[in-house]
Amino acid sequence: MSKVCRRCEKTRPLDSFMKAGRELLSCAPCREYARANNHKNRRANPDKVRADNLWSFYRIRPQEYDARREAQDHRCAICGKHESELRVRSRGRPRLDGTPNSEPFRLVVDHCHNSRRVRGLLCAECNVGLGAFQDSPEVLMAAARYLLAREDVPLMLESGPAMQA
Ligand SMILES: [Zn+2]
Ligand SMILES: [Zn+2]
Repeated sequence: MSKVCRRCEKTRPLDSFMKAGRELLSCAPCREYARANNHKNRRANPDKVRADNLWSFYRIRPQEYDARREAQDHRCAICGKHESELRVRSRGRPRLDGTPNSEPFRLVVDHCHNSRRVRGLLCAECNVGLGAFQDSPEVLMAAARYLLAREDVPLMLESGPAMQA
């Protein structure tokens, strides 16, 4: 009994496709090659891992992330916090042993939800904040007006000597 491998298209004995009692689509040498390369790449090539993570998390290429990061001086585009001050949120896909595999993204990628266009890089808090306000400039401005209006009240009530001059 033999079978054609779906991957290398070579005919090999059926034995080569059996694993734990199941018949697989690719032959043993192909599976071994894929496995070895997968592990090797993920360990030896952090750039590739970073690119994969950026793509799977944010659908963005490393070049675009780095260009924006540079343009924003490594700071959140809203609150201005530097990425070194930010807590680590996403570590990317971990290694098989569970340890982080590449530099984490302290600044997350903010997308416009309708166009999917990248708007900028934000700290996690600001990014969540935008979402909480439905990504709406109107609602955010109303919230700012609300806060500013309430800030005025205590200032007027506790006007000290300096304020009375
Ligand atoms: Zn094969
Ligand atoms: Zn921020």
